[in-house]
Amino acid sequence: EWAEASLARIRALDERIGAFLHVDEAGALEAARRLDGETPNHPLFGIPYALKDNLCTEGIPTTAASRILEGYVPPYSATVADKLRQAGGVLVGKTNLDEFAMGSSTENSAYKKTRNPYNPACVPGGSSGGSAAAVAAGMVPYALGSDTGGSIRQPASFCGVVGLKPTYGRVSRYGLIAFASSLDQIGPFTRTAEDAAYVLQAISGHDPLDSTSAPEPVDDFVSGLDRGVKGLRIGVVRDLSQEGLDPEVGRLVEAAIATLEGAGAEVVEVSLPHMHYAVATYYLIAPAEASSNLARYDGVRYGKRVSGDSLIDMYERTRSEGFGIEVKRRIMIGTYALSSGYYDAYYLRAQKMRTLIREDYQKAFETCDVIATPTAPTPAFRLGEKVDDPLQMYLNDIYTIPANLAGLPGISVPCGLTEAGLPVGLQLVGRAFDEKTLLAAAHAYE
Ligand code: GLN
Repeated sequence: EWAEASLARIRALDERIGAFLHVDEAGALEAARRLDGETPNHPLFGIPYALKDNLCTEGIPTTAASRILEGYVPPYSATVADKLRQAGGVLVGKTNLDEFAMGSSTENSAYKKTRNPYNPACVPGGSSGGSAAAVAAGMVPYALGSDTGGSIRQPASFCGVVGLKPTYGRVSRYGLIAFASSLDQIGPFTRTAEDAAYVLQAISGHDPLDSTSAPEPVDDFVSGLDRGVKGLRIGVVRDLSQEGLDPEVGRLVEAAIATLEGAGAEVVEVSLPHMHYAVATYYLIAPAEASSNLARYDGVRYGKRVSGDSLIDMYERTRSEGFGIEVKRRIMIGTYALSSGYYDAYYLRAQKMRTLIREDYQKAFETCDVIATPTAPTPAFRLGEKVDDPLQMYLNDIYTIPANLAGLPGISVPCGLTEAGLPVGLQLVGRAFDEKTLLAAAHAYE
């Protein structure tokens, strides 16, 4: 019944929302029917969910919203998909994203546009816009996304749902189509922090198939949820860039922090002096890693091939036709930043700045337990508003990117609506592997 209800909702709404690239109706119903004969043995048992289409699913098309992966059907599943299947989860489909997760609005998908359920003239955010919209529109109770520079938290903020990026290494990236391997993390979209705790519990843990997954023991995220915020020290950033910050967003986030203070938290000022270099740093490191990761799409191993007169000609035609404009831009920037003669000036300096940003956080966490900022400087913008201005698009990630550079966990929690009726998110960033505190604070706020 749950699977049918989810599929019915998708049928009713997705023509307008465009959250899904692929709905696996037959597979979902079959999985649900099989579970009907079993005894529920997990909190996620029988519950339908969706996966961002950069997560590999055995036997189910996986495109990363790119033409170059058109027709690709993976021979294996991502570890997170396996874990959710073992928990009794019912996969209903694969959600839309910016091509290879590069973008902040889901407009870079090669296949379709996704609309914000709160206002169809607006974007759902990105790059995991399909997952955020699917949860916001009630098509699935939860969905997974990936976050390299904000791609879970920012769309969660735009769509009025909870989005959690775990600590780097908390969740196995095996089977996640790589964008920037040192930044990518998989995490949940849910309607509540409690649901996020259940999903995180199910997908966390060391995986021998991902050498960067951490051996760290997995906390009991659910049992700590009710501990409240009494005595919790919330850091507000003194030198936070106000550039481009929408005043309504600023007010709603301030009010949310005041609410937490009223519930017993202590607000302290902290400094992140290198934070304003984060966007520039990210847009060197992420494209550098992407240019290397995307070298594998050569027309031989996966998906699309455009034939040519020679091997090189085939490569060129396949990649010219297969990749969209933003992906090409990243490959060009990354290849340039890594090339000999420029490496020291760009890539190496970006890595040094990354260390300074990490140290800023270490210092800040000596006097606070979580750091509160807006998730994004604006509410959802209109479709088409920023597509021709990549720099404006990149600046939307100003508050989310630093946590990826430092590998820290971050959560976006809905904290109200603007006068125009668009959701705004409060972001909390915590110490490495301290998702427990983030979830408890978010739960107390709800
Ligand atoms: N918007 C950022 C980018 O375009 C972040 C994307 C992400 O987190 N996957 O790179």
